Amino acid sequence: MKARQRKSWEETALILAETIADCRSQDPYLQVGACAVLTDDSVCLGYNGPPPKVEIDWSDRERRGARIIHAEVNALRAVKPGQCKFLAVTHLPCRHCMTFIASKGIRRIVFRQIYERDTLAFELAQEFGIQLVQIPGGQPA
Ligand SMILES: [Zn+2]
Repeated sequence: MKARQRKSWEETALILAETIADCRSQDPYLQVGACAVLTDDSVCLGYNGPPPKVEIDWSDRERRGARIIHAEVNALRAVKPGQCKFLAVTHLPCRHCMTFIASKGIRRIVFRQIYERDTLAFELAQEFGIQLVQIPGGQPA
Protein backbone atom coordinates (compact mmCIF):
# COMPACT_ATOMS: atom_id res chain seq x y z
CA MET A 1 0.00 0.00 0.00
CA LYS A 2 1.24 3.47 -0.86
CA ALA A 3 1.65 6.09 1.83
CA ARG A 4 -1.25 8.52 1.89
CA GLN A 5 -0.71 11.97 0.47
CA ARG A 6 -0.12 14.68 3.00
CA LYS A 7 -0.15 18.46 3.00
CA SER A 8 3.01 20.55 2.86
CA TRP A 9 4.37 21.98 6.12
CA GLU A 10 3.36 25.45 4.95
CA GLU A 11 -0.25 24.47 4.28
CA THR A 12 -0.32 22.53 7.56
CA ALA A 13 0.98 25.55 9.48
CA LEU A 14 -1.61 27.81 7.83
CA ILE A 15 -4.40 25.43 8.84
CA LEU A 16 -3.05 25.36 12.41
CA ALA A 17 -2.97 29.18 12.41
CA GLU A 18 -6.58 29.31 11.17
CA THR A 19 -7.64 26.74 13.72
CA ILE A 20 -6.09 28.50 16.74
CA ALA A 21 -7.63 31.80 15.57
CA ASP A 22 -11.06 30.24 15.16
CA CYS A 23 -10.93 28.32 18.44
CA ARG A 24 -9.29 30.88 20.73
CA SER A 25 -9.56 34.48 19.51
CA GLN A 26 -12.20 36.48 21.41
CA ASP A 27 -12.05 39.38 18.99
CA PRO A 28 -15.49 39.73 17.39
CA TYR A 29 -14.09 41.77 14.48
CA LEU A 30 -11.01 39.87 13.38
CA GLN A 31 -9.59 36.51 14.37
CA VAL A 32 -5.88 36.23 13.66
CA GLY A 33 -3.72 33.17 14.16
CA ALA A 34 -0.02 32.47 13.78
CA CYS A 35 1.99 29.26 13.69
CA ALA A 36 5.77 29.27 13.94
CA VAL A 37 7.40 26.11 12.60
CA LEU A 38 10.70 25.61 14.38
CA THR A 39 13.87 23.97 13.09
CA ASP A 40 12.95 20.73 14.90
CA ASP A 41 9.46 20.77 13.29
CA SER A 42 7.75 21.58 16.56
CA VAL A 43 5.24 24.42 16.39
CA CYS A 44 4.34 27.46 18.49
CA LEU A 45 0.83 28.86 18.12
CA GLY A 46 -0.57 32.30 18.87
CA TYR A 47 -3.78 34.28 18.38
CA ASN A 48 -4.81 37.90 18.88
CA GLY A 49 -6.05 38.70 22.35
CA PRO A 50 -5.66 40.80 25.49
CA PRO A 51 -3.00 40.08 28.12
CA PRO A 52 -3.97 37.28 30.54
CA LYS A 53 -6.77 38.20 32.97
CA VAL A 54 -7.52 41.47 31.17
CA GLU A 55 -11.14 42.08 30.19
CA ILE A 56 -11.74 44.15 27.10
CA ASP A 57 -14.70 46.23 26.03
CA TRP A 58 -15.07 44.77 22.56
CA SER A 59 -17.73 47.27 21.54
CA ASP A 60 -15.13 50.00 20.98
CA ARG A 61 -13.15 48.95 17.98
CA GLU A 62 -10.67 51.82 18.28
CA ARG A 63 -9.90 51.33 21.96
CA ARG A 64 -9.47 47.60 21.66
CA GLY A 65 -6.55 48.00 19.26
CA ALA A 66 -4.13 49.26 21.91
CA ARG A 67 -5.08 46.45 24.29
CA ILE A 68 -4.63 43.47 22.00
CA ILE A 69 -1.46 41.45 21.65
CA HIS A 70 -1.03 40.40 18.05
CA ALA A 71 -1.00 36.71 17.12
CA GLU A 72 2.57 36.87 15.81
CA VAL A 73 3.87 38.23 19.13
CA ASN A 74 2.02 35.54 21.07
CA ALA A 75 3.30 32.77 18.79
CA LEU A 76 6.92 33.96 18.92
CA ARG A 77 7.04 34.85 22.61
CA ALA A 78 9.24 31.88 23.58
CA VAL A 79 11.00 31.45 20.23
CA LYS A 80 14.70 32.27 20.22
CA PRO A 81 16.37 34.01 17.26
CA GLY A 82 17.27 31.50 14.57
CA GLN A 83 14.94 28.84 15.96
CA CYS A 84 12.05 29.39 13.55
CA LYS A 85 12.10 27.99 9.99
CA PHE A 86 9.10 30.01 8.87
CA LEU A 87 6.01 31.71 10.22
CA ALA A 88 2.49 31.06 8.97
CA VAL A 89 -0.14 33.73 9.63
CA THR A 90 -3.79 34.04 8.70
CA HIS A 91 -3.21 37.70 7.78
CA LEU A 92 -0.20 39.63 6.53
CA PRO A 93 1.63 40.95 9.62
CA CYS A 94 1.45 44.66 10.47
CA ARG A 95 4.54 46.90 10.43
CA HIS A 96 5.20 46.41 14.17
CA CYS A 97 5.01 42.63 13.96
CA MET A 98 7.22 42.67 10.86
CA THR A 99 9.99 44.28 12.92
CA PHE A 100 9.45 41.81 15.77
CA ILE A 101 9.52 38.89 13.30
CA ALA A 102 12.80 40.19 11.89
CA SER A 103 14.25 40.30 15.42
CA LYS A 104 13.68 36.54 15.60
CA GLY A 105 15.73 36.00 12.44
CA ILE A 106 12.72 34.75 10.47
CA ARG A 107 13.15 35.03 6.70
CA ARG A 108 9.94 33.54 5.37
CA ILE A 109 6.30 34.31 6.09
CA VAL A 110 3.37 32.52 4.51
CA PHE A 111 -0.07 34.08 4.89
CA ARG A 112 -3.62 33.70 3.64
CA GLN A 113 -4.97 37.21 3.33
CA ILE A 114 -4.25 40.89 3.58
CA TYR A 115 -6.34 42.67 6.22
CA GLU A 116 -4.99 46.15 5.73
CA ARG A 117 -2.77 47.03 2.84
CA ASP A 118 0.06 48.44 4.93
CA THR A 119 2.69 49.42 2.39
CA LEU A 120 5.25 49.94 5.15
CA ALA A 121 4.84 46.28 6.18
CA PHE A 122 5.79 45.24 2.62
CA GLU A 123 8.65 47.73 2.57
CA LEU A 124 10.03 46.49 5.89
CA ALA A 125 9.80 42.85 4.82
CA GLN A 126 11.88 43.65 1.76
CA GLU A 127 14.38 45.67 3.77
CA PHE A 128 14.75 42.92 6.37
CA GLY A 129 15.11 40.20 3.72
CA ILE A 130 11.86 38.51 4.68
CA GLN A 131 10.16 36.58 1.91
CA LEU A 132 6.36 37.02 1.84
CA VAL A 133 4.32 34.26 0.25
CA GLN A 134 0.56 34.50 -0.05
CA ILE A 135 -1.15 31.11 -0.16
CA PRO A 136 -4.87 31.76 -0.65
CA GLY A 137 -7.69 29.32 -0.22
CA GLY A 138 -8.00 26.91 2.66
CA GLN A 139 -10.86 26.61 5.05
CA PRO A 140 -13.82 28.98 4.94
CA ALA A 141 -13.60 31.65 7.65
ZN1 LIG B 1 0.84 43.00 14.27
